[in-house]
Amino acid sequence: MFGVSNRLASKEYYLMLLDNVLSKTSKHSSAAGDRVIEIRPSLVSDAKNTIFANLGQLSKTLNREPAHLARFILKETGRAGTISDDKLTIQGKIAYDEMKKLIDLYVKEFVRCPVCNGIDTRIVSEKRFRFLVCDACGAKNPVRRV
Ligand SMILES: [Zn+2]
Repeated sequence: MFGVSNRLASKEYYLMLLDNVLSKTSKHSSAAGDRVIEIRPSLVSDAKNTIFANLGQLSKTLNREPAHLARFILKETGRAGTISDDKLTIQGKIAYDEMKKLIDLYVKEFVRCPVCNGIDTRIVSEKRFRFLVCDACGAKNPVRRV
């Protein structure tokens, strides 16, 4: 009369376990598309100058000549500066955010392909003109001379 049936209880338990397992095995999507470039200018300022210490390393990451990036920065800021040992010394103070913004602009204009958004690009000279050539999609777009 008082026969205990725990069949129902164990079925519920089983379903609960199953639910638990399923919720733990949901797939994680992996982003294997665009390469992300880390842009962190390292700036040291003294009373008169700002030294962009990792100009060389950053240029290498972007696959550009340090002198090209340096000319862009000086042109955009209207400052005077000199390069030595892959470091750029700029007259006056430049804040980190300003420099970061400048390099982002540089990447947008002189590194990133406007067609496929890739960064495997080169700047080629043809007569008086400069082009940003993308090795990934083959796009060729004129860029200004710096
Ligand atoms: Zn491209």
